[in-house]
Amino acid sequence: MSKKSEKKVLLSGMQPSGALHLGNYEGALRNWVELQNTGDYEMFNCIVDWHALTSGFDETDKLVPRIYEMAADYIAAGLDPAKTTIFVQSHVKEHAELHLLLSMIVPIPWLERVPSYKDKTESLGLDSYGFLGYPILQTADIIIYRADVVPVGKDQLSHLELAREIVRRFHFLYGEVFPEPEALVTKFQILPGTDGKKMSKSYGNFIALGDGPDEIKKKVMSMFTDETKIHKTDRGHPDKCPVNIYRTIYDPEWTQKIADFCAAGDDSIGCVKCKKNLIRGLVDYFADFRARREELLADPAQIDNYLKDGAERARQRASETMVLVRKAIKMYKPEM
Ligand code: ADP
Repeated sequence: MSKKSEKKVLLSGMQPSGALHLGNYEGALRNWVELQNTGDYEMFNCIVDWHALTSGFDETDKLVPRIYEMAADYIAAGLDPAKTTIFVQSHVKEHAELHLLLSMIVPIPWLERVPSYKDKTESLGLDSYGFLGYPILQTADIIIYRADVVPVGKDQLSHLELAREIVRRFHFLYGEVFPEPEALVTKFQILPGTDGKKMSKSYGNFIALGDGPDEIKKKVMSMFTDETKIHKTDRGHPDKCPVNIYRTIYDPEWTQKIADFCAAGDDSIGCVKCKKNLIRGLVDYFADFRARREELLADPAQIDNYLKDGAERARQRASETMVLVRKAIKMYKPEM
């Protein structure tokens, strides 16, 4: 057996539904780059464009630019196409075939009880068949690579549990083909947005990884800090203040000292100065990232090549899996 195939297979992915933000970086991408750099895993990273259609079916003109942006964000953040197979889901049709086959064996109530299905049907009015079947496609995305592990936040554990349940049902009916994918639980904090709520594309409270100095300045200056600290001499609550939370990550040098000043109501530093330091911190922290991102976006042919190469590698493993799947299900295959 070759050394490569002894490694555990890891599948990760995100929807290309807009520019990546600091929350996506802290909650997912930073960890993926670290996992890649351990060299312990054979990594597949999927840009899940079919999934993006569940809510974005009526804005497909944005899909292609978002895929380029996402690929540029990934690579600029340190995912290396030579080490991690980065590809677009819809380029590997085997995901769709496996989704179809799994859809025959998954009872509808398993899907209806998924918390995000209930929430989003109510809040976003999503009621399509594709939206209900989303967890089946997600399962196919994982097991088509016979993935051993999936890096997830605690909030996504229920999705993986459903994938494991589907795998068990497949094995019960047709025999063993896949590893039961395990969660590699990422320790991360939910990063607040500029308004103090969870940072999210949908809330418009995000700082994108690709934001330049002017946007960073504008967004940070408008950030919520601590509503109980009106005067410099009021005692602040730095552990709850988004500006301070960001500073511990992007401008850590003096943060603890400043947090102590803030909590004590010491008037040598106020929120405005704190924000100015954060702006400098963020601009510097992502300077190399932005340069690499711009360079990639200026050369879409380079991105095309990475994604084409990634799709070829992904397709190879996915098609091997489908041979096993069709055989297990006993699909008709004429003698050649
Ligand atoms: P959004 O809420 O902006 O649409 P997604 O739901 O597409 O983000 O999330 C993509 C990934 O980024 C997931 O792994 C998710 O856990 C992570 N993520 C999103 N927002 C945050 C956040 N504010 N803090 C930490 N991780 C986040």
